[in-house]
Amino acid sequence: MRRKLAAGNWKMHGLAADLAEAEALAEAHPSPGCEVLLCPPATLVGRMSAALQRTPVVVGGQDCHAEESGAHTGDVSAAMLADAGASHVIVGHSERRTDHGETDAQVAAKAAAAHRAGLVAIICLGETEAERDGGETLDVVARQLAGALPAGATAENTVIAYEPVWAIGTGRTPTEAEIAEVHAALRAGLPEHMAAGTRLIYGGSVKPANAAAIFALPEVDGALVGGASLKAADFSAIVAALDAAAG
Ligand code: PEP
Repeated sequence: MRRKLAAGNWKMHGLAADLAEAEALAEAHPSPGCEVLLCPPATLVGRMSAALQRTPVVVGGQDCHAEESGAHTGDVSAAMLADAGASHVIVGHSERRTDHGETDAQVAAKAAAAHRAGLVAIICLGETEAERDGGETLDVVARQLAGALPAGATAENTVIAYEPVWAIGTGRTPTEAEIAEVHAALRAGLPEHMAAGTRLIYGGSVKPANAAAIFALPEVDGALVGGASLKAADFSAIVAALDAAAG
């Protein structure tokens, strides 16, 4: 059975005062049926982990360096995130790919580093609007999956997040049929040892209003949520929808 995952990506938002939102979320879901994850900026990983220690809500990073330590000013390693209390890390988010030119090979190296540190890697992939309009979506995500999945990936240490670039932060989403089509293609493209057990989550403008319909789709094992994860009330409604879908 694949445990459903509601993952929140705070991006570059969040100061100490915002930890109250994380605590409110945990209070609203003392025993969720799904896994609930918040990924704050690196500056808050330690404090959020401490604040949520006695709750079921777990904490993750938004990116990690491929090396464990070294002369890489400003970067954070997977081992450092684990040391600060993280259990997961997002790698290959489209904002990293766009802002920092990250390639699939670099994403694979980061995911491998996450695995070495004992973290679950949430590997993001997804097509641009031009690629969708050009009918290339399935080819693009297949190429990204093959290129970004490191040797050593398993269903336990890896989650795949399908995030169409044009849907992130825009309020636009693919149709339900389009999401289902991509998730089915991704599952078919996983290596055999990962095919049945790997969680495939959707990301891109998931909100309380559309969450239930997305979670009802086959092969959607949860969501990666940006804007709607910043406020406990919104993210809580999404967690509740996922819990309901989990039965
Ligand atoms: C994201 O940051 O991964 C994301 C999906 O953002 P949003 O939910 O705001 O579209």
